[in-house]
Amino acid sequence: MEQATAISHVLIFPLPVQGHVTSMLKLAELLSLAGGGGIRVTFLNSDYNHKRLIQFSDAESRFRNYPAFQFKTIDDGLPMDQLTKGHKVSELVGAMGSKTRPVFKDSLVQMDPPVTCVIGDGALGFISEVSLELGIPNIRFRTISTCFFWINFWLPEIIQAGELPIQGEEDMDRMITKVPGTESFLRCRDLPAYCRGRSDEPTLLRIVRAKRESSSPPYPLILNTFDELDGPILAQVRHRFPKTYAIGPLHEHLRSRLHATSYSSPSSSLWKEEASCLTWLDTQPPGSVLYVNFGSITMMRRDQAVEFWEGLINSKNRFLWVIRPGSVCFEEEMGCDNMPEELVGGVEKGNLKVLVGWAPQEEVLGHDAVGGFLTHCGWNSTLESIVAGVPMICWPFFADQQVNSRIVGEVLKLGLDMKDVCDRRVVERMVNELMVEKKEEFGRKAVEMVRMAKESVKEGGSSYRDLELLIEDIKLMSA
Ligand code: UDP
Repeated sequence: MEQATAISHVLIFPLPVQGHVTSMLKLAELLSLAGGGGIRVTFLNSDYNHKRLIQFSDAESRFRNYPAFQFKTIDDGLPMDQLTKGHKVSELVGAMGSKTRPVFKDSLVQMDPPVTCVIGDGALGFISEVSLELGIPNIRFRTISTCFFWINFWLPEIIQAGELPIQGEEDMDRMITKVPGTESFLRCRDLPAYCRGRSDEPTLLRIVRAKRESSSPPYPLILNTFDELDGPILAQVRHRFPKTYAIGPLHEHLRSRLHATSYSSPSSSLWKEEASCLTWLDTQPPGSVLYVNFGSITMMRRDQAVEFWEGLINSKNRFLWVIRPGSVCFEEEMGCDNMPEELVGGVEKGNLKVLVGWAPQEEVLGHDAVGGFLTHCGWNSTLESIVAGVPMICWPFFADQQVNSRIVGEVLKLGLDMKDVCDRRVVERMVNELMVEKKEEFGRKAVEMVRMAKESVKEGGSSYRDLELLIEDIKLMSA
């Protein structure tokens, strides 16, 4: 085999939103750790997010442990206050494509020592384009679920076969047959929201991109999943992309590799974490609390928030609802009048706590008192729940969330998929089903998944092996 001679220098560049930054930072730490010092790592953060990361997380002190690691920052092309105002991810992607791209190219040229491998977020197409223009090998990291990646890849075929567009509400349960590996469970209802024609995401652009991707040569691909979770779909993906590294769940992988060190769950939060969630959980009985959180990007309408609130109260179960500031009732036209005051200012009484703020989610899910998770099914949240052995109720909003919730409910049987019906009676029924009636059944499934997730990242496990391969390949790129 060829021997690596030069210094390996990897540049990691995420889309600057929480879920992407979190998983790519975990990858950065894994490479710094498992690469045994043989790999230099530069993490390229947006200026805006970097300020927040330094302010609210332990990233700066953590990464001081790795002499071959450095942060660099770059302009994300948006005015500084945009992110706090709930801008759309599509706006961010657009701004970066036009404004960040040339700056990125210049800084890549100037990096010293020269970058030998770019690991770019697959959501930012320009990263791989610029790297290829400069002749630098690159690997795409998709932080989304494997199934969603795969559906997008097959979008042109779905359309060509006449399986899209969806013909109204009565057509929603029709099966989709054109995505290999998903035939037994994928319905129109589980396709990304932009396939419904009611989202403002640029569908046409996505289809054009999917067409281009399906005709482009296969590229090296990193996925935050593991064989035992996504086996059948991963087998299909690997057929098309032979260099696929399935190295997840990344947070558990990192935890496992850091096991011998004084590991504490690393934080990469872009908001201030409220420890009061944990102190409240300390006072609750084991397995009794439903944790409610809809992630870092979603925006909830007033009427939906009220249905959830009423359903949760009527279920009489204990719950902890952490609401990201500004994420409920964010625009006048969405109808902000008469919001329950508990959802605006927070409350702590009896068997419930509502916190308007940001939770240390991994720790919350790992807390003994938590027995269920009402989630939007972002891929990080889904993986975090799987690893913590916490069954889910899924209320998806957009992107991969529709199909993730189907996988949780139908494929993994780790919870209930509530999608499309936001009604207080449904909420009440599902909460009781998850937390009381089917608690043991879901619990058994959850324990089995935890075991498989942990096995995959142990020495000899599937994700462990894929990470070793990735490191080997990165080193070879600098040979
Ligand atoms: N998160 C957190 N505290 C919160 C809400 C979210 O730490 O109060 C973290 C969560 O643990 C996850 C990430 O933010 O790692 C959200 O990513 P995900 O892919 O689940 O959803 P997104 O926010 O991208 O929709």
